Amino acid sequence: VVVATDVRMGYGGVQVLNGVDFTVASGEVSCIIGPSGSGKSTFLRCLNGLEPVLGGSLRVLGEEVGHTLRDGRYHPWTPKQFAAFRRNIGMVFQRFNLFAHQSALENVACGPVHVLGTPPDRARTLAMEHLDRVGLADHAHKRPHQLSGGQQQRVAIARALAMNPALMLFDEPTSALDPELVDEVLEVMKGLAAEGMTMIVVTHEIAFAREVGDRLAFFADGVVVEEGRPREVLAAPEHERTRAFLSSVL
Ligand code: ATP
Ligand code: MG
Repeated sequence: VVVATDVRMGYGGVQVLNGVDFTVASGEVSCIIGPSGSGKSTFLRCLNGLEPVLGGSLRVLGEEVGHTLRDGRYHPWTPKQFAAFRRNIGMVFQRFNLFAHQSALENVACGPVHVLGTPPDRARTLAMEHLDRVGLADHAHKRPHQLSGGQQQRVAIARALAMNPALMLFDEPTSALDPELVDEVLEVMKGLAAEGMTMIVVTHEIAFAREVGDRLAFFADGVVVEEGRPREVLAAPEHERTRAFLSSVL
């Protein structure tokens, strides 16, 4: 589903990704850990085409992100092609980014109505199902400010799922939550993983990575320093940078 080979990216001449190699197969949960500023968020933004890849190759859902090979040449995508590509990828951020003036139900239904052209009645029925799936059927009418942070984040997950994504990206989805609200969000993500959703999760929740992750990648200075089965990487990190980071978070 994702094959990144030597991916490079920078902001204004400052190199941020220095040759990322990273692979995710269908149905896998891949967790990414690493120090602040190591390029984790930037890499996720490249994966869904929000940032241009400046070198290497990034294939996501069978496409070279940003380009189509035609007549032996690569043609850059139009904004429309970017939008069509992004529709298949759900993204959940640290901050929930819900529409403040809309109910939970409207937040979940609006993408399908406006982007997929789902009839409003049908979209509301499906939105209810997605809210039920994240345990919020009883809160569908509430606005974000009437919900806890954990509930808001679960609405954000339901909203992403409503677009029927083939891949879900999570960028520190529990980092902004009070500690007692973290588990309810991780439980929803665990459920998604059990259903076979392909997921890439940037997280500091080491226990989640160990229990739910199929793979664990450690980012430092814009490269994947170490990658493998979570239990193995966590129990016996091979790289000094990984050891230093793990001893600082565990
Ligand atoms: P954190 O754990 O703090 O979220 P991260 O691993 O997600 O960190 P990134 O957000 O990808 O790190 O940032 C990597 C580097 O790129 C940092 O040095 C950051 O300052 C820089 N950077 C990120 N976004 C931009 C931007 N829009 N313009 C310029 N530099 C940026
Ligand atoms: Mg980040």
